[in-house]
Amino acid sequence: MLTNRSEIVVKKEMSLIERLYIPAILNGMRITFSHFFKKKATINYPEEKRPFSGVYRGQHVLKRDEAGAERCTACGLCAVACPAEAITMTAAERKKGEETLYREEKYASIYEINMLRCIFCGLCEEACPKEAIFLTDRIVPSTFTRDEFIYGKNILVEPVDKAKRIDVTKRQTQAVLEFKKHPEFAHNKLYDGKQLKQKH
Ligand code: SF4
Ligand code: SF4
Repeated sequence: MLTNRSEIVVKKEMSLIERLYIPAILNGMRITFSHFFKKKATINYPEEKRPFSGVYRGQHVLKRDEAGAERCTACGLCAVACPAEAITMTAAERKKGEETLYREEKYASIYEINMLRCIFCGLCEEACPKEAIFLTDRIVPSTFTRDEFIYGKNILVEPVDKAKRIDVTKRQTQAVLEFKKHPEFAHNKLYDGKQLKQKH
């Protein structure tokens, strides 16, 4: 014995009532019935949906700029930042005449996120220098095969139609916008078409 703090545990004999389990059953039913009259903690998902915070980290979106061109330049910083190694991409050179499709000279011809690997940490969003990737308040729906969880550009890139674009303004809090204005840390050299001055 290393210390004097040990106690000998004596197994208490159960009484006859306890051995019949009647008090335990009645007590359990009392608790169950008491919950009938309380407000339910659950909802009938997916028919009913809870409101989500504007900064909830759900399914990603690859954003377009004001003119509808894809913002992603396939720099790979999101993939490097991703702790789950969920992002893969293939870069391609923009050809003449594709200026309206892709904002930069390089773009992602393939961009995939494995939603089974993703832990929705948001580091890809933070790492992106082009404000191209954001997490949204949308839930990744369940499905039956693993392949269906590999989301490509057909799912990730937002529609060209401005009315159907994914609103991420709630994610751009005052603190985030202030940070991006800083000349040294400004993420986006071509923010809204204007060249920001950088220190480097
Ligand atoms: S949210 Fe996190 S885990 Fe998911 S793709 Fe982005 S960096 Fe990777
Ligand atoms: S989403 Fe952003 S960080 Fe990722 S490859 Fe595109 S531009 Fe780079």
